[in-house]
Amino acid sequence: MKIPFVDLKSQYHSIKSEMDQAIANIIENTAFVGGKVVKDFEEAFAQYSGAKHCVACANGTDAIEIALRAIGVGPGDEVIVPASTWISTAEAVSTVGAKPVFAEVLPKLYTIDAADIERKISDKTKAIIPVHLYGLPAEMDEIMEVARRHDLKVMEDCAQAHGATYKGQKVGTFGDAASFSFYPGKNLGAYGDAGGMITNHDDVAEMMRIIIDHGQKGKHNHLIEGRNSRLDGIQAAVLTVKLKHIEKWTEARIANAKAYNALLENSGLTFPVIPDYSRHVFHLYVVQIDNREQIMENLGSKGIATGIHYPTPLPYLKAYEHYGHAPSDFPVSYGQMDNILSLPMFPELTKEQISYVCDALLSVTV
Ligand SMILES: *Cc1c(COP(=O)(O)O)cnc(C)c1O
Repeated sequence: MKIPFVDLKSQYHSIKSEMDQAIANIIENTAFVGGKVVKDFEEAFAQYSGAKHCVACANGTDAIEIALRAIGVGPGDEVIVPASTWISTAEAVSTVGAKPVFAEVLPKLYTIDAADIERKISDKTKAIIPVHLYGLPAEMDEIMEVARRHDLKVMEDCAQAHGATYKGQKVGTFGDAASFSFYPGKNLGAYGDAGGMITNHDDVAEMMRIIIDHGQKGKHNHLIEGRNSRLDGIQAAVLTVKLKHIEKWTEARIANAKAYNALLENSGLTFPVIPDYSRHVFHLYVVQIDNREQIMENLGSKGIATGIHYPTPLPYLKAYEHYGHAPSDFPVSYGQMDNILSLPMFPELTKEQISYVCDALLSVTV
C-alpha cells in the first residue's frame, strides 16, 4: 500500500467542479490581484476565526513580519519565540530589525513554555510569539498572564492551527494580532503561496493594510515605506471555496488522530496529547520513538511517507549559531530532536491506511 504524507490531489478531486469554476471566473473577470474576491475572502475568514478584521497577504512569513510591524515591533526590540518551530517565526522577527530570543517548549505539548518565557524577559522585550504548533493551541492562559504582567504584545503564529480553539475560543483572538499561512499543505491551503493576518484592533488592521500595499492609504498617498504583499485573486478564490469545507476536513483530521491514538495506546510510544480544553486540529501527527532513522526507513520500504518537524530546533541551526546556544540551554527541544516523527495526516486518510501505518510502526518498535 502506498500512503503519501499529504494528499492534495484527492482533495482537489472531491471539489473539482466547484474549484474549476471559481478559478475560471477569476480569469474571465481578470481579477488577478486584490479586488472583491480578496475582500470577500477576508470577511469570510475573519468571521470563521472570530476576529473583527482579516487582512490577506502573500504568504505566512510575510504575515508574521507585517503583523509584528503593525503592533509596533522594530529595531532594538526583543521578541520571545519558541525554540521548536518552523524558521519563519524567528526569521520574521529578524526581518523587522528585532532580535529573536528563544524559549523552551513543553515536553508533551510541544508548544512554548510560559515559565521559560518569563525567564527570558529583559528590558528590551517587546512581544511574545506563541506558535500553535502541529495544530495544538499553546497554553494561552499562562502566556497571556505573563504578557499582561510585563506589558508585552502577543502575536500568535497560527500557520498550523486554522480553526483550533483553546477553552472554547479560536486561536488568533487572544493576542494583539495573529498570522496564518495558506501554503498548499496547510490545513487551509491555496494553490500557491498565500497568507493572512487577523486582529480585533482597528488601528492594527489599518496599519497592516497600509504595509501590504507600499505604505499607501488610498492611491498614491504613501504614508510610509511598505512593501508589496498583496494576495492574488486566484488564491483568494481557491481559499473561499475551501473555507466552506474546512470544518468537515478538520473533523476528519481529528477523527484520524483519535484512530491513531487508539491503535498506539498500549504501544509504549509517545503519541499526541489532546488536552480536554483544546481543539487540536492536527496539521501534523507527531510521535516520539527511539531508532527513528531505522523506523523511517522501514516505513518507507512499506510505501509509507513520513517527515520530521523539525529536524533541528532553531537555536542549533547554522543560521542562529551566532547566539552561541548549548544543548543544555533547551534540554526539552534538544532531547526530542532525534525522536520526533510525523506520520501521514490529511483528511482523506482512511481507517485502513491508519491501521497499515500503525501495524508497520509497531512491527519494528516492539
Ligand atoms: C508554514 C509556517 C509558516 C510560514 O508560512 P509560509 O506561508 O510558508 O510563509 C510560519 N510559521 C509556521 C509555524 C509554519 O508552519
